[in-house]
Amino acid sequence: MEAHEAESQPPILSRASAKKELPKHFRDNRHVWVFIELERGQVHPVSIELLGEGRKLADKLSVQLAGVVIGTEGLGSRSAIAEAFAYGADLAYVVESPLLSDYRNEPFTKALSDLVILHKPEILLLGATSLGRDLAGSVATTLETGLTADCTELDVDADGSLAATRPTFGGSLLCTIYTLNCRPQMATVRPRVMATPNRVTNTSGPIVRHDLMMIEEEIVTKVLGFLPDGRSEKINLAYADIVVAGGIGIGTAENLEHVMVLARTIGGEFGCSRPLVQKGWMEVDRQIGQTGQTIRPKLYLAAGISGAVQHRVGVEGADLIVAINIDGNAPIFDFAHVAVVADAVGLLPALTAAFTRRLAPHNQSMQVN
Ligand SMILES: Cc1cc2nc3c(=O)[nH]c(=O)nc-3n(C[C@H](O)[C@H](O)[C@H](O)COP(=O)(O)OP(=O)(O)OC[C@H]3O[C@@H](n4cnc5c(N)ncnc54)[C@H](O)[C@@H]3O)c2cc1C
Repeated sequence: MEAHEAESQPPILSRASAKKELPKHFRDNRHVWVFIELERGQVHPVSIELLGEGRKLADKLSVQLAGVVIGTEGLGSRSAIAEAFAYGADLAYVVESPLLSDYRNEPFTKALSDLVILHKPEILLLGATSLGRDLAGSVATTLETGLTADCTELDVDADGSLAATRPTFGGSLLCTIYTLNCRPQMATVRPRVMATPNRVTNTSGPIVRHDLMMIEEEIVTKVLGFLPDGRSEKINLAYADIVVAGGIGIGTAENLEHVMVLARTIGGEFGCSRPLVQKGWMEVDRQIGQTGQTIRPKLYLAAGISGAVQHRVGVEGADLIVAINIDGNAPIFDFAHVAVVADAVGLLPALTAAFTRRLAPHNQSMQVN
């Protein structure tokens, strides 16, 4: 009976033996592709960060790096191609059509899936933005391949497989995921998780153009217009140079004013830990961490934040982390560069006053000039 049960179990393959199972028609798949996302005609910075990662993977595999541009013919598309070359692409694949002017899942999925079927990349990377997540999911489903979302690290194994690492079990563990039997190996990465590579001028390369094999009548989604989101300001937490954030230690929603005023005084953005969003004290766009924004500022000042692992993963790319916590044993002091053991509610207004005094002559001379 035991022997019979054992026989009916699917064989457990080691990764090396599973790799041998890669179907024949995938064995020619070569090259690393990065989808270049356009946001209102501008290249999304996450695409540039992915070109940097894609370059490293392509070099390890000794293959080419391609930027994939999907949109309408015009300035946005031209600048996307130019940026792809400036940040390391060897060639660009381009699909342009008036049907691709605004993002709609069906034509973008068709354009990208058709390119993949035709040119057979081995690895395809997209930003984990709203658009990238939507597109990556439907392309992976269309192509029946594996997709690892929200990766924090990408590498190539000795056997050439993409090792895509991401947090799991609520962020307490990291797991590395392989796509063994399908191609391309797809992954998304959130903005600011990877560093921005250097820009190189006067670069160019071959551009391979294809038509969109779809007509408007086949597209169910219609864009009727855009509605303003009602916000007076655009939150740019992920790309801010200075971020001041508050956590539960701030005590009350009213005390968050101290965080905001200090952030404004020193020309930064403000954010928070997750419990403050859950309490409705701040908008979700201002949450920093694993399920919020990843930031890489020059200065991150955390007030009343304990430094849980889910918060840490979103801030550890900061150049300088200053933590204010009343508890000298708070976990945030394990990774902060400057530890201030103090009551944040009292210290934040004092810091604002001190910065206001220090910056006053600078601000005045700026006004005179
Ligand atoms: C799947 C999952 C995803 C998550 N994603 C995120 C995420 O994206 N971002 C995130 O932040 N969290 C996230 N969390 C929650 C995370 O585990 C922590 O619960 C959270 O980060 C704690 O927030 P906090 O540091 O503000 O609060 P606490 O952990 O309660 O810490 C408050 C800190 O304030 C200090 N303090 C108290 N009074 C003062 C004072 N007067 N002055 C100075 N310091 C004081 C205390 O000593 C303490 O260290 C996630 C959790 C899970 C399970």
